[in-house]
Amino acid sequence: YAFSKGDSVVVIGLGRFGGSVARSLVHLGHDVMGIDRESDPVHAWADRLTHAVQADATNAMVLRQLGVADFAHAVVGIGTDVAASLMTLMALTELGIKDIWVKALTQEHGQIAQRIGAHHVVYPEADMGVRVANMVTGRLIDFIELDDGFALAKVHAPAATHNRKLEESEVRTKYGITVVGVKRTNTDFQHATPSTMVLPGDLLIVSGPTGQIQRFAGQVK
Ligand code: ADP
Repeated sequence: YAFSKGDSVVVIGLGRFGGSVARSLVHLGHDVMGIDRESDPVHAWADRLTHAVQADATNAMVLRQLGVADFAHAVVGIGTDVAASLMTLMALTELGIKDIWVKALTQEHGQIAQRIGAHHVVYPEADMGVRVANMVTGRLIDFIELDDGFALAKVHAPAATHNRKLEESEVRTKYGITVVGVKRTNTDFQHATPSTMVLPGDLLIVSGPTGQIQRFAGQVK
C-alpha cells in the first residue's frame, strides 16, 4: 500500500480502545491501517480509515504480507485476549517495528509485554480509575497525572485567587503549584502571566504535585 506519510500507524484490534485510537489518528492527519480478526469491526471502520483489513495479527507472515513492516508505529489494542495481544506483539517485533504501543488490562499483561519488546504499555482502565478518583474527591474538573505524583489539572479558580493578579495571590509559594493558563466563560484559554487577573468563575489550568493541586483546588469557597 502506498502510504504518503512517514508517520503511518497500524492499529491492531478495532475494539473500543483501538477504534478510538484509530479515529483520533485519522483526525490528526495520519495514515492508519486497522486490522481486526472479525469482519464486523473491519466493515464498521472501512470507510473511516486509510485501510481496514480482516486478518489474524498473531501471524507474522500475514502481517508481513499486509505491508506492516513499513509502518513507523504500531498500536496493539487487543486487551481481553492476552495471548493474542502478546503473540501479536511478538510478530510485530519480528517485523522490526520500532515503536510499538500495547494496551494492557492488568499489570501482569503489561509487564510481560514490556519484557518481550513493547516500547510503551498503556493501562487505559487503571489510569482512568485514578483520574476519576481525583476528579470525584478533589474538585478537579480534569486531571492528567504526567508522572508519579506530578499532574496537570483543570480547576475552578479558588476564592483566594479571585480579583487578584496571579503575582498577588502567590500561588506558587503558598501552594507549590504553577498556573499555566486561565479560561473565562466564552473565551479561549490564555497563557497565564504574573499580571493575569483571575475573576470568580474562571477556570485555571495548573501543574504541580498531585497533593498540592488537591490542596489548592480545595480552597474553593
Ligand atoms: P476493547 O475493550 O477496547 O473493545 P477488546 O479486547 O474487547 O478491546 O477488543 C479488541 C479487538 O481485537 C476485537 O475487535 C477483536 O476482534 C480484536 N482481536 C482479538 N484478537 C485478534 C487477533 N489475533 N488479530 C486481530 N484482531 C484481534
